Amino acid sequence: MLKGTTKGSRGGNRDRRTPRLALELPIRIFATDLKGKGFVEDSTTVAINLHGARIRLGRDLIPEQEIRILNGKTGREGIFRVVGKSGKSETRISFWGVECTNPGENIWGVNFPRLGPQDQNLVRAMLQCPVCRVREQVFLDEPLLSKVTAHGGLLRGCLACGQTGQWKQVPYYET
Ligand SMILES: [Zn+2]
Repeated sequence: MLKGTTKGSRGGNRDRRTPRLALELPIRIFATDLKGKGFVEDSTTVAINLHGARIRLGRDLIPEQEIRILNGKTGREGIFRVVGKSGKSETRISFWGVECTNPGENIWGVNFPRLGPQDQNLVRAMLQCPVCRVREQVFLDEPLLSKVTAHGGLLRGCLACGQTGQWKQVPYYET
């Protein structure tokens, strides 16, 4: 895996120290489109880290533009800078990397454990066996995460029940 996917962002690589969680949170995005017209779109995150996120969006953004994101769960909001388009999209939905402009802010309401440098490109997710419902924390790399996102799960064997099935992603944090 290559490092430096956030190249060109002014904040440096500071934020790469916290792991990204594959977590779908409801968000409302306030931004302006390519023509400078303001729009509001309800969407979700795909993955988050302490100061940034990957979000899905039906419209195009402009790298370096600033957008406002409201977390539908916590009611907190913050200004984010668009880092760039990330990943491939099969439909008209696109994925964008965004970075919070205020590093002191955590609008997600989630605590992030620290990870070592070797884990920085992995995304933590919680998957559940469809047969026995056991949950397992897994670390996904980018291709796997795309797969889970696209298919809503991952085909894998279960050590607990011995069955193979489509493991579904479940919320990482118990509420
Ligand atoms: Zn099982």
